[in-house]
Amino acid sequence: MDRQWDIRDFSDLKTEKFDEENVTTATSTEQIKTEKLISRCFERLQQMICLDPTLPKICRNEHIHFLESGIQNLSTAYECLDSSRPWIVYWILNAAHLLNHSFSDALLDRIVDFLVKCRSPSGGFAGGPGQFPHLAPTYAAVNSLCIIGTKKAYEAIDRPSLKNFLRSVHEPNGAFRMHVDGEIDVRGCYCAITAAKLANFSKKDEEELFENTVEWIVSCQSYEGGIGGLPDLEAHGGYTFCGIAALCLLGSTGTLNLKSLLKWSVNRQMRYEGGFQGRTNKLVDGCYSFWQGATIPIVQLLIQRNEPCLGDLMDRPLFDRQALQEYVLICCQRPEGGLLDKPGKPPDYYHTCYTLSGISISQHCKADMQPFVVGQPENEVMPTHPIYNIPPLAAWKVFQHFQKYNSDMYPEDNNVIWGDDSEGDDFVRSESQPTETDESFEIVDD
Ligand SMILES: [Zn+2]
Repeated sequence: MDRQWDIRDFSDLKTEKFDEENVTTATSTEQIKTEKLISRCFERLQQMICLDPTLPKICRNEHIHFLESGIQNLSTAYECLDSSRPWIVYWILNAAHLLNHSFSDALLDRIVDFLVKCRSPSGGFAGGPGQFPHLAPTYAAVNSLCIIGTKKAYEAIDRPSLKNFLRSVHEPNGAFRMHVDGEIDVRGCYCAITAAKLANFSKKDEEELFENTVEWIVSCQSYEGGIGGLPDLEAHGGYTFCGIAALCLLGSTGTLNLKSLLKWSVNRQMRYEGGFQGRTNKLVDGCYSFWQGATIPIVQLLIQRNEPCLGDLMDRPLFDRQALQEYVLICCQRPEGGLLDKPGKPPDYYHTCYTLSGISISQHCKADMQPFVVGQPENEVMPTHPIYNIPPLAAWKVFQHFQKYNSDMYPEDNNVIWGDDSEGDDFVRSESQPTETDESFEIVDD
């Protein structure tokens, strides 16, 4: 087999480069500079692939080493993230899952102890021991504890105090503050609803906690079609993912214009680079491989639910999965371990988590299709849950664990974890238990 045919012909792609039409701006200069860095990566690969036809390869062992060293010790460069420590834990745990790597039980046990120290007596988790509780580290801590998945980890999610915390940051208009007296944006809704779903709050609690939330999120859709952090703000990939994932879990998209959201999202994939940008006229960035990459199949699913007649049209992934995987594999890997935003940037744990998550989404797109893997089969990563971005099995298990607390739960309410009101969907499936080998989970800043 001529392996080179597996990779797009980068010389053909040159016509897709940005045309500044004789008007040079700061934005166009940066775009052209970025394309030059990327074309150097593409050209290098075209030469190297003649020497090693197994390229491009995922540097799995090197990335695992990067994760193993980070979970033990971080350089002083991470000092500025002292109030985001559960985030670092989550990025590392989720990236390790995607690479099919397990940490030792003793280490996972120590991580649970650490996250318990971050838990506030008033509910929710803080960015570090003794700090104020905040919705973002609460999301990261709950996700981390779900990934660890031991009884001790589940017990570290204190449902009554978590509920009080979510209540304390809920606004009458349906929005959520990131912390008491803190800022409001769409992230808050997403962090709150995912924590509530994973902890399997009762329907009654959910109705009270998320009163008016659908309408508030819908009010953040911009004229472009994407979702901004607040009403009237610019559409942004991170907020768009948070908004649409939250609406999916709430089981309603209200008056959101799904088709304009889909149009905005698919147009954020860069024609030459293959990765996604976060906003119109911004540069490509590896982390949007997930934020935009996961948004597209979620929106497709929601459109399909509303308009089953579009079946076939909405049934195939509407972004270029090959281009996305090539961008991450060729341009975002440091050969010594760790993944990055774009060539020239240093690797970090955030981009390692979200570039790999984006690859996962693009590989595991459809229940009825084989994984779509660019390069050797060894490049396949594990499936991720497109809405929570944790292992699908972890989401299932924690849901089962907390189900016993709910007296108002009927058997058919199993589907509340997925926010699913239809049958036979790809990734937000309600009935059957996903397994580690299940390849059916479609789907997969700045
Ligand atoms: Zn980024």
